[in-house]
Amino acid sequence: MLIKLLLLAFGAWIIYRLLKSYGRSIKQDDAPKNVPGEDMVRCAHCGVHLPRSEAVVSNGEFFCTNEHRQLRQN
Ligand SMILES: [Zn+2]
Repeated sequence: MLIKLLLLAFGAWIIYRLLKSYGRSIKQDDAPKNVPGEDMVRCAHCGVHLPRSEAVVSNGEFFCTNEHRQLRQN
């Protein structure tokens, strides 16, 4: 009976350790997503942040849309 309790406690401890390491590995997987590999730029007209590849560049300034680029220039 005592051995059964010990095995039960040991099993619970193993499950606890597995869940803990599983949760930690999920956190490690999420971490790179929070760090964008791409530079974020700011629209010179409205101030919205967007990836550099999606931005409209004009005279060294970044814009979120072509409309904002034209509004800035007019
Ligand atoms: Zn804008």
